[in-house]
Amino acid sequence: MRWLLLSFMLFAAQLASALTIIPVSAWGGEPVAITGAPQTIAKLTVHHQGETWVDGDDVPAYLRRLQTWSRETKHWADIPYHYVIAPDGRVYAARPEGLAGDTNTEYDPTGHLLVMLLGNFEEVEPTSKALASLVELLAVKAYETGLDERAIASHKDWSKQTVCPGKNLYRYLANGRLYGAVAARIFALKEQSPSASATRPSPAP
Ligand SMILES: [Zn+2]
Repeated sequence: MRWLLLSFMLFAAQLASALTIIPVSAWGGEPVAITGAPQTIAKLTVHHQGETWVDGDDVPAYLRRLQTWSRETKHWADIPYHYVIAPDGRVYAARPEGLAGDTNTEYDPTGHLLVMLLGNFEEVEPTSKALASLVELLAVKAYETGLDERAIASHKDWSKQTVCPGKNLYRYLANGRLYGAVAARIFALKEQSPSASATRPSPAP
């Protein structure tokens, strides 16, 4: 049993390595402690930055400015989002997952894992690399939390006060492509997990 657990943990580590998440320490962010009980994630919610992103802009410098603004101007604990995806497909960790997010709109983000893509998708199209990372991140987080693709929605599905994540990103939710792609990856992750093969019936002798 212990061996099984250990091999599962090793496998989980391998699984996570398929998705590289750049830690807060690597972009020069200040760590944030979780006080109180960590939130239980029940929803996966997609956002956009809502500002023009210029190719070549420095993502770590942007994240450091966003963290400072969040704390000093908004008096939030941290960047409102848990993960930020850049146009080149890199995924950056931001707020700790256990700490409920923040918002300028009327919905309560408690229990939501908040994923933000850099750019303004009212004006430009998301890159294929950013979309691919969004699918992978949502699938891995759904897999880790025992959710499925039905937990995914976007900011404007929860709030009447925003067009976030922008019409050009929202299209992938509206036409079902994001849900289909995430469902396929969740299925593959489950198929690859040793616990799935362990519960599979042995062939008849
Ligand atoms: Zn949003």
